[in-house]
Amino acid sequence: MKQYLLILLASVCGLVAQAKAQTTAWKPVWKPDSTSEFEVGTQIRAWTIKDEGLTNILDNMQSMAGVNNLYMVVVMHQEHRPFQAPEFPHNPARDVWNAEDSRVTFFPDMKRYGKIKPLLSDHKWIRDTDWLQLMVDSVRARGLRVGAEVSHYPIPKGLIRKNPDWQMKKIDGESWNGSRFCANNPVAREYLIALFGDLAANYDLDYIQTCQYLFNDKDIDEGGTCFCRHCIAEAKRTGFDLEAAIPVLKKNKNAQPERNNWLTLRRNSTTKLYRQISEKIKEENPKCHLRLNDVFVWGGGDAIDYGMDIKALAPYLGSLVNQDHQEQRGRKNETFSMRIKWLQTNRKFIGPDMHYVSGIAPRMNASPELVRAGIKVALEHPAKVNGLALDPGRRRPAE
Ligand SMILES: [Zn+2]
Repeated sequence: MKQYLLILLASVCGLVAQAKAQTTAWKPVWKPDSTSEFEVGTQIRAWTIKDEGLTNILDNMQSMAGVNNLYMVVVMHQEHRPFQAPEFPHNPARDVWNAEDSRVTFFPDMKRYGKIKPLLSDHKWIRDTDWLQLMVDSVRARGLRVGAEVSHYPIPKGLIRKNPDWQMKKIDGESWNGSRFCANNPVAREYLIALFGDLAANYDLDYIQTCQYLFNDKDIDEGGTCFCRHCIAEAKRTGFDLEAAIPVLKKNKNAQPERNNWLTLRRNSTTKLYRQISEKIKEENPKCHLRLNDVFVWGGGDAIDYGMDIKALAPYLGSLVNQDHQEQRGRKNETFSMRIKWLQTNRKFIGPDMHYVSGIAPRMNASPELVRAGIKVALEHPAKVNGLALDPGRRRPAE
């Protein structure tokens, strides 16, 4: 089985390069069935469906890469697409697309939301169609698994910039970044819980994936977050006087127990937010779960942690993805040392039984050899990987 997948998935680089020509009859080379639980997942966005046609896309994904699990990025952050590449390799309608600032591509149930409401697209053709429903119907009809992703910025950056109280604060009280909300902010928290609840209640999803950025990895004297009034209030509830700790940490960032108390507060705040989101998903749809798309590497040297304790978070997750893109660097003799270590560390945190997916990156500078090597690392890893997440992008044209 693993051997077969290796051969099959290695063709995914070819998918990027050749897909323009792939409009011929669909010939599945591998079809998932109820006895095969190994996941081969990938992602899709609304404009790709409009431009290339869902039937064509799904035919290609299934026949060329054995995809059996597809999720839509339903809240996509502002970004030039294709990411880090000048133009799409095979889009018949456009060369590039500038993704809007966290506009949604589903029909939100506005009654569920409080102060922050989801923003629909400025493009009529996007906002007039429920792209998520369209995808779920087609994907389910083929018997595949299906999910939705809320990406790095669930709340539009423009909206956060207009509301300083939502922004994360450095130790001097100044805003950090200006477009990232604090996980302890009640308005942001209410919105997130409503958003995940809305998706779980109104769409037939197996999982909702999150890869949002919460606290940063900066040290206290470099802009580390967060010291906002909502963090002070949350600290107080847990018996930690953050307000009193601020002047102490300003003088000496390593003062104890203040420093560790602050780091613990961040980790616990993240766990609390995801716990509430996970409980809301289960309440709305017991068949749906929260999937964490871990985009940060654990144990990465001396850097301060990101305020996330995956071991504490594990009881609230249904599955985990390590989103690793080492292939895209195009290093000929890539050893995948980071992937090997990361897979091991997170498996320890989540325990032996959780569904665990390894990202691979058939994109940018990756060669077929590198993609094969990356897949092999995941499949043969002692951490027992239950699936692969293909995060494709454009492969660099031959020079
Ligand atoms: Zn805060």
